[in-house]
Amino acid sequence: MSWSVPASAPTAAKLGLPHLAESLKQYAGRADEAKMGFLDLVLAEELAVRDDRRFRQGLRLSKLPHHKTLDEYDFTFQPELDPRKIKDLATLAFAEAKGNAALLGPPGVGKTHIAVALSVAACRAGFSVYFTTLDDMVRQLRTAEASGRLNSKQRTYLRPGVLVVDEVGYQPLERAEANLVFQVISKRYEKGSIILTSNKTFSEWGQVFGDEVLATAILDRLLHHCDVVSINGPSYRLKNRLAAIERDANVA
Ligand code: ADP
Ligand code: MG
Repeated sequence: MSWSVPASAPTAAKLGLPHLAESLKQYAGRADEAKMGFLDLVLAEELAVRDDRRFRQGLRLSKLPHHKTLDEYDFTFQPELDPRKIKDLATLAFAEAKGNAALLGPPGVGKTHIAVALSVAACRAGFSVYFTTLDDMVRQLRTAEASGRLNSKQRTYLRPGVLVVDEVGYQPLERAEANLVFQVISKRYEKGSIILTSNKTFSEWGQVFGDEVLATAILDRLLHHCDVVSINGPSYRLKNRLAAIERDANVA
């Protein structure tokens, strides 16, 4: 019998607890392999199980559209994007500091993919995360406002440690809508992080928010502590489509 198999295993067997006896032996075997004390191993495994449960629960609550990671992102497809910039973001220093990250660029370059990958990493690190598109957030806030539940709905967007606001700029907003966005951004300022994606440059935000003054006020809070990454390159969505179309054209 190895030195770390606790005497409790045979005792458990004598007590007619064969499952416990077997579990104790298995723990002892794993502790031997890991060269750890029995109790250290049991507690470390308990902690790992709890962390994993919290991670999976966090992912469920985050409403992320998928769970892609940076390992699945092909940096060779975007040679103008410096992988170090994304790896820096993946350290989550910006989230620790309650700062923001902005991913800008045309459709299909992987803005949402990277925002999700950072969110999955944040979830694993124990941050609470919530994903929304800008349009959906505005719709939810408007509906809540109309029925007198604005404060409680705002909390959905204020509570998480990391709020992902995807697709800023696809639809121009009305002034009242832009004002609802301003409230969320300013209430989160230096209290929590935002990861946003946009197909518009910041200079075009006046058009997106329908009001230069409001857009400037939003950008002022957002950009004070913000890592900005612009991805200028081809659309990954069109990559295979264009190759197929060219192939078909050559055959014809
Ligand atoms: P965007 O948000 O910039 O419009 P997405 O993140 O939605 O683009 O990317 C579109 C699709 O292409 C997704 O399925 C994404 O996973 C994939 N994709 C984009 N860029 C890459 C890349 N460089 N490597 C691997 N997959 C990519
Ligand atoms: Mg996107």
